[in-house]
Amino acid sequence: MAELPDGIRRLTFPLPMGPLHVHCYLLPGEGGWTLVDTGLGLPEAEARWEPVLRGLDGPVARIVVTHFHPDHAGGGEDARRLTGAQVLQGERDYEQCEQVWGREDWSERLADYLLGHGLPEPVAEELRHESRIFGPFIRWARDPLRLAEGDEVDGWKVLELPGHADGHICLLRDGVLVAGDHLLGEITPTVGLYPDSRPDPLGDYLASLERTIELAPKLALAGHGELIADPVSRAREIVEHHRKRLDETAAALGPEPRTGYDVSLALFGDNLDASGRRFALAEALAHLERLVREGRAVRQMGAYTDS
Ligand SMILES: [Zn+2]
Repeated sequence: MAELPDGIRRLTFPLPMGPLHVHCYLLPGEGGWTLVDTGLGLPEAEARWEPVLRGLDGPVARIVVTHFHPDHAGGGEDARRLTGAQVLQGERDYEQCEQVWGREDWSERLADYLLGHGLPEPVAEELRHESRIFGPFIRWARDPLRLAEGDEVDGWKVLELPGHADGHICLLRDGVLVAGDHLLGEITPTVGLYPDSRPDPLGDYLASLERTIELAPKLALAGHGELIADPVSRAREIVEHHRKRLDETAAALGPEPRTGYDVSLALFGDNLDASGRRFALAEALAHLERLVREGRAVRQMGAYTDS
């Protein structure tokens, strides 16, 4: 457990897949600690959590989930059981959590969707297989208390910053942003278009980044990697990255229709494993849909041309 400014503590759990670790944060406050995010719901939760809880000088009073991705929400049920604390999650995010992990046919629907955008069947089959392996580790907490923009949690302001996930929330207090995966220092957070996601996730994300620049936090606590000492500059860099990516995506289009998969090959190359291919395709689709809205691309029958 690492000690950070303002008495905040950081827990780091290893992950079996990239990015190989995830951070959870403990914020000191009224009546105990606020735990932000829960890691993946891997086996032996007791062995993972008990030393952490023993090392605290008070109870965990509440648990906040920034977004429904498995490495942040997947340990929710275990964390709730072992701390006895109430779980709080964004309203939109919990809705999506149930829509995705709560339905038996999720991996099938995702595979069908990606096949419809040109993903080859053998890659889709690998993804179905991965979902079957990881499914049991997504142990999210049912029926949390729902949070929305403007709420306060123990003096921390709740911000809805959609993009990396449609219902992603962050906490802000005294210039410290508990960022989840909204801002990462070393990698750009993935932004993808999925079945049931909002229609223009990249547009949402660019607006959330502009809002972050206006809010001007002085420190961001990220879900992966190092602390971000200059969140405003980092937000500007990520906006710049996507502007460039949008130009590259536009350049990959011509008069002949291209599928999202074709475009993802042009942007990310062909040397990716199945999971990397899935993120590349979803990210290419997010860029293509943004281009459609900017009048720089046309979508017809699920494929794209230049305008
Ligand atoms: Zn995430």
